[in-house]
Formats: sequence, structure tokens, C-alpha cells
Amino acid sequence: MVLSALRADTENGKIVFAYASAEAVKAGTMLAVLNFSYDAAYLDTSLTVRTLERGTALNLHEETTYPVQHESGDAHDYQITKSVAPTCTEDGYDVYTCTKCGDSYQETRKALGHAWSEWSIDEPATCTETGKQSRSCSRCGETETQTIPVDPNACPSKRFDDLDTTQWYHEGTDFVLRTGLMRGTGEKTFAPNDNLTRGQLVTVLYRMAGSPSAASAAPFTDVEPNAYYADAVAWAYAEGIVMGVSATEFCPDQDITPEQLVTLIARYAAAQGIEVTADRGKLADYADADTVSVYAREALAWAVENGLVNGMEGKTLQPGGTATRAQIAAILLRLCKAFLH
Ligand SMILES: [Zn+2]
Ligand SMILES: [Zn+2]
Ligand SMILES: [Zn+2]
Repeated sequence: MVLSALRADTENGKIVFAYASAEAVKAGTMLAVLNFSYDAAYLDTSLTVRTLERGTALNLHEETTYPVQHESGDAHDYQITKSVAPTCTEDGYDVYTCTKCGDSYQETRKALGHAWSEWSIDEPATCTETGKQSRSCSRCGETETQTIPVDPNACPSKRFDDLDTTQWYHEGTDFVLRTGLMRGTGEKTFAPNDNLTRGQLVTVLYRMAGSPSAASAAPFTDVEPNAYYADAVAWAYAEGIVMGVSATEFCPDQDITPEQLVTLIARYAAAQGIEVTADRGKLADYADADTVSVYAREALAWAVENGLVNGMEGKTLQPGGTATRAQIAAILLRLCKAFLH
């Protein structure tokens, strides 16, 4: 076989070649191998074989056209050759490349979005304070916090007919009720304007300390062993918080005076490791400062300096007056906010 002509017909996009053979070509003989290559998408083309002579037959014009197509019709065989997985917040992508022609394209894999857990409440909202809740993504660990709006229904004071939630003591009574430091005097009554007795105050401080047990009973003859405040008085005596009004008397049912109240709270604070010192001169601003009992002066100065007491009328301390349950609730709230949080 002799390759006798090869012509590239660029105008018509053709390659023309011819062959001739002096001898008969045996059936099944491969005459030519044509390799097509193209560096992007596949192109379909066709191959035309024109037979001019065969054996003794001359001037033949037999023409057969063979389509040359992608091996599997027009389908590419795309396989993923590169893959970047999407994250919660960023898109990923897959690169597909045709194993036959090398053509490739990229397919975006959309960001997954966070896989958030349910909201869990860190701090519940109350009637006066917003709360806080948070959730986290189980995939990337991202956390998100959100404010819970004030909830007017989350108000323990509302249960009591004699508490007015528009009054100055509202936050204080909510605090003592929510924490269990104080309870109602009845199912529907809190008695905000009643005086607190010494036995009641010691009970409140005892609850604030977590109701620990005391080694032995206090040596007061007026504290019955089965009185509701007996454990509290024993604990407070052991801690040096109460000393009694005399060596043998505690007077549990006596109304507490503001200076006694502040003294007990100061001793309680000291027992909790809080430094209770103050400049006694601070009391000089008050018209009735010289009526404060000597034992109560430093405690009262400390309470004034730290804003624990400021609800007294005018510029007076009224150390020997009475303290109401609402006032005590407010003082306990201020104490906790200032020192115990
Ligand atoms: Zn392909
Ligand atoms: Zn995430
Ligand atoms: Zn409330």
C-alpha cells in the first residue's frame, strides 16, 4: 500500500488523503488508523471513503460516509476529580472531569447551614429582667446566645394580693420569693408593711446560708427547741451572728430594729468572708447619727457606704425604728447584688 496524497483542507475543515495498492487487499485488513484529539469538548465529525478503483474495475465513484462520534454517543463520562466539602457557612464544590475528553466543570455544593440544637435557657427571664438562652451547632460547635424578653408573668410577687408590683419593693420581694429566703405570711399574703421579728430575720439569714446544721443549741431560755427558728438561732449563735439581747435571752418575737438588722447582716457577711469595714464618720451626714448604738455604728456605716440601706425618710437613719418585711427584702437583694453574686 502506498500513501499517495495527504491534504489538509482547512477551509472546509477536512483532511484528505488517498491510498493505492497494487495488490489485492485482503478482507479485514486495517488500512489506516486515525487518531482524533481535541483538547476541549468532543467534536463529532465524519469520515468519507471514496473508492475509485477496485481490481479491474476503473472509474468507480463509490462513496461511503462513516460518522465519527464520541464513543458513547454524545455523552461524556464525567467523574469527580476534586472535591471540597461544604461547611456550615461556606460553599464547597466538586470538579467533574470527562475521562474521555478531559472536559471539566465545577458544581457548587451549597453551604449546609448550622445544625442548631434546641434553645436552652441559661437565665430565665423575669418580670423585671431579660433572660438569656443559647444554642450550639452540633457540626462546627458555633454557639449563639439570645436575649429572652422580660416576662410579666414570671413574677412571684403577683401571687400575693397585698403586693403591688408598681411599688419600689417589687424587685426585692420578687428576689426573696424566688430564692425562697422569705415566704408569704399566708397563701395570698406577704404582709410587706409588717415588721420582721428577730426570729424571722435569723431564719432568713439561715436560709441564705443554705440551712446548715449547728453543733449545739444556743443558750437562750426563750428559744424553745421546737420553735421554727430554733435551728436558725443555734446556727447564728455558733457563727457569732447573734449574741442575744442578754446572755440568756434572744427575744425572738421582738420586732427587729434597723440597727439590729444591719448588724446581723454585717456579721452574716463577715461570716461569708466579706470584709466589713467602714469609716464611721460617714454616719455624720445623718441628723440622728448620734442615736445609733455603739455596737451598730461600724455595721451601719458599712451598710450606708455600700448602698444597702437608703430607703429611710429624709436624712435620718432611724436606727431604733422598725424595719418592714418589704425593706428587708430590698436590703437582701442589694446585699446579694453587691457581695454574694
Ligand atoms: Zn468527554
Ligand atoms: Zn455549624
Ligand atoms: Zn415581679
